[in-house]
Amino acid sequence: VKDPRIDGIKTKIRVVPDFPKKGIMFQDITTLLLDPKAFKDTIDLFVERYRHMNISVVAEARGFIFGTPIALAIGAKFVPLRKPKKLPGEIIFEEYELEYGSDRLEMHVEAVDSGDRALVVDDLIATGGTLCAAMNLLRRVGADVVECACVIELPELNGRERLEGKPLYVLVEYR
Ligand code: AMP
Repeated sequence: VKDPRIDGIKTKIRVVPDFPKKGIMFQDITTLLLDPKAFKDTIDLFVERYRHMNISVVAEARGFIFGTPIALAIGAKFVPLRKPKKLPGEIIFEEYELEYGSDRLEMHVEAVDSGDRALVVDDLIATGGTLCAAMNLLRRVGADVVECACVIELPELNGRERLEGKPLYVLVEYR
């Protein structure tokens, strides 16, 4: 059965057609963040799922909006996956394709230990390229990626198939 909080979350996500270019249905989560109840429900749903899964590291690419409160609440460390030239320590990187354009993610090597149990969080999965790159970074330093978690999935883009069978937990599907 669907959690009653999900519908409240879904109604707070603003869908903007043709942004940033024609044909893209942009899912704007900034409107979700303006509603403290819906934002808290979002974090709570993830925390309720992950608090007893022995997650030792939460990683998120670029935004850090959802991953940081989840990490604090479940007692895991948080590792930001950043665009180039933001991390001063020793890094590894992965190049990846976006629904629009391409990009590169970097991670501090010393932030993750071999044997860490990782949760990879993002606001949205479109093609799955971002989550795939994030998982590769964590795996390259010996972490075990337990699951990926997103607020929104665009199922028609088949991003799930890029995750090679890794479990993906999403709150809202947009078709
Ligand atoms: P992907 O790597 O293709 O799965 O794209 C996921 C990333 O791109 C997420 O971090 C989103 O922030 C962003 N993104 C891609 N498509 C959309 C969309 N339709 N609406 C909002 N954000 C998007």
